[in-house]
Amino acid sequence: MNGWIEARLRERLDHVRARGLWRRHRTLNGPQTPEQVVDGRPVLAFCSNDYLGLAADPRVAAAASDGLGRYGLGAGAAHLVNGHTRAHAALEEALAAFTGRPRALLFSTGYMANLGVLQTLVGRHDTVFEDRLNHASLIDAARLAGCRTRRYRHADPVHLARRLREQRTETARLVITDGVFSMDGDLAPLPELAHTARRYGAWLMVDDAHGLGVLGRHGGGSCGHFGLGMDDVPVLMGTLGKAFGTAGAFVAGSETLVEGLTQFARTYVYTTAMPATLAAAALAAVGIATRETWRREHLAALIARLGAGLERIGLSRPPGASPIQPIVLGDTGRAIAAAARLLEHGLLVPAIRPPTVPEGTARLRITLSARHTEAQVDRLVETLDRVLARMPPEHTDLNPPGG
Ligand code: PMP
Repeated sequence: MNGWIEARLRERLDHVRARGLWRRHRTLNGPQTPEQVVDGRPVLAFCSNDYLGLAADPRVAAAASDGLGRYGLGAGAAHLVNGHTRAHAALEEALAAFTGRPRALLFSTGYMANLGVLQTLVGRHDTVFEDRLNHASLIDAARLAGCRTRRYRHADPVHLARRLREQRTETARLVITDGVFSMDGDLAPLPELAHTARRYGAWLMVDDAHGLGVLGRHGGGSCGHFGLGMDDVPVLMGTLGKAFGTAGAFVAGSETLVEGLTQFARTYVYTTAMPATLAAAALAAVGIATRETWRREHLAALIARLGAGLERIGLSRPPGASPIQPIVLGDTGRAIAAAARLLEHGLLVPAIRPPTVPEGTARLRITLSARHTEAQVDRLVETLDRVLARMPPEHTDLNPPGG
């Protein structure tokens, strides 16, 4: 390695270590279920995005196994060469139907989908308007697209309107928001954002990684929750690695949008297709997610139970009725200490700190799954009560409203 590059890398690593921000992998010894063996010890986990509990579902595994028998493992080529199978086509059709849009296009990950969409839709002279708390992949997508970026205040359509007025141009304008914010769990005010975007002649793109499958009676996500269709949200991105328990992502929209992405999105054209067996598994998961409404109902009951429990122990309810339920502790050290103490009690709840969240808003990020039980949620609340009550006095200003 070039000496200068190595020295700089070491310096950055030392800096992260000194600030207590060092991250490391935990190693699971089994499937993604609430009760796991992590780093060799049994824990009750509240950190998975497997919201509907499908990641270890035997029917999804059986579909993967059938797909494996039929197609083998590797896709062998990009979609446009000959990596595209009937399993991929069937999944795209199912996702189009699921989202109520004419077409859907698969990508290997949500990160790549977002990069591909922006690089296709906007260029140097265009402007994207992003919520300040949008996911990192949406921020990076705008950087890679080389367009102008204006950030608007979190979930604030009035501020968005001001930004749109400031930036009157003849070129393309795209408003982008998470449907459910990944670190706060609150929903974007989509009807107001859609109205504002339309008023100023901009398109709206929603990244619904955390909403699809979870919100709405049949899992239609944040658009389903608000009853919005393609006229309101012309570009919808969803992921398969969260509620659908598998991996990969898709963009759903009009014929023109999907053909445009197929022809021009570099993260679609120049990469190996996801394995067909994964597409077969995801197809099974989408079917189960659509039919088994009890999963969303149970999850909603758990979310309400957790919120009531947090209030009972003197914390405020997290802002959203999504399975992402953060407890904002402010200081990074507090969040890390709280997570470590929870782990001593056998609970795995991750501490999320800067740069993933803004400075001063470090938090415990609790995520719930349809596989959790009421008793497990009660155990979480009781343990939080015990752990947080024993933190030093300066650790008692927990979850300030609006924090
Ligand atoms: N968008 C959001 C809002 C996300 O939370 C994530 C993943 N955490 C992604 C996009 C990226 O999706 P993937 O994991 O499939 O790359």
